[in-house]
Amino acid sequence: MRVLIGGGSGFVGRELTRLLRDKGHEVTVISRQSGPGKITWGELESRGLPPCEGAVNLAGENLMNPLRWWNESYKKDLFSSRIDTTKALAQAIAASPSPPQSWVLVSAVACYQPSLTAEYTEDSECKPYDLLSKLVKEWEASALLPENVAKTTKQVVIRPGVVLGRDGGAMKQMLLPFWLGLGGTLGSGSQPFPWIHVSDMAGIIAHALEPPANTPSPSQQVFNGVAPALNTNYEFTKELGRVLRRPTIFPVPGFAMNALLGSERAVILTQGQKVIPKRTLEAGFQYKYPDLSSALREIVRN
Ligand code: NDP
Repeated sequence: MRVLIGGGSGFVGRELTRLLRDKGHEVTVISRQSGPGKITWGELESRGLPPCEGAVNLAGENLMNPLRWWNESYKKDLFSSRIDTTKALAQAIAASPSPPQSWVLVSAVACYQPSLTAEYTEDSECKPYDLLSKLVKEWEASALLPENVAKTTKQVVIRPGVVLGRDGGAMKQMLLPFWLGLGGTLGSGSQPFPWIHVSDMAGIIAHALEPPANTPSPSQQVFNGVAPALNTNYEFTKELGRVLRRPTIFPVPGFAMNALLGSERAVILTQGQKVIPKRTLEAGFQYKYPDLSSALREIVRN
């Protein structure tokens, strides 16, 4: 299978590329920069969709970029980098004389309202309640294909929690302070912490790309990209401390997180959702790292 991956040069994209190539598939990345094995977004727009059986979009300005202050220009980039790239790919698919069999968008669990008690499956309603949930709603809507194309192209949305892996994402920023014994719970620590190991995240995307593909449906099939274990931030913190053999006695209060990150973005860490991968499990996906202990041990061991 030939797979086109928007934003495939990033943290999740590198893992997905490795996995797909190991399975014998061909990968082309869409990037802002040209290079071997890549096309640019400009080339996608001017030349149309290259021949492919699968397309994925992972592009987006990093939401936890420590070098960017939380202001209007950053928020605008978070929206446009996701929505414009997703629209560009969806339009190229719709205009293609031979559209791919599957089109996968990776969005986020931020569409589910944080709660200490509510449990969300893929059937739960996503009603925008804040900036990030509004972003997810617009982002997923921008991936929708016209009805005639949706008859032959399977449309999938995967909503991941925090993706854990050594080479990027949140762990890259957390490992050093935890290693130095400066780690601790974020906010109250009692908030749910939906997470997934990057290897399972790549596995769920690869699973979604596979046939049976032509399930004619004008709507998107949603899969929650989270591990089946439900953990809190306190449990995550204690387990990371345990596998690193370091104390975790320095909690970071919610107000400090709000001041540091901006309250609209800090919610990702200071609040959380209990997300259940009901449909992901029903689809027969086998997790390599279903629990925190095995996931964190693999990350720390490497
Ligand atoms: P990365 O931060 O690694 O970024 C992926 C790619 O997006 C980059 O390699 C880059 O490709 C492209 N990109 C970055 N900024 C821009 C921009 N301003 N305009 C256009 N393209 C841009 O993302 P991840 O791999 O960590 O995540 C993949 C997707 O999953 C993202 O959309 C993210 O929001 C979502 N997600 C990730 C989570 C996580 O914990 N990592 C959690 C929940 C959702 P290039 O430089 O080649 O153009």
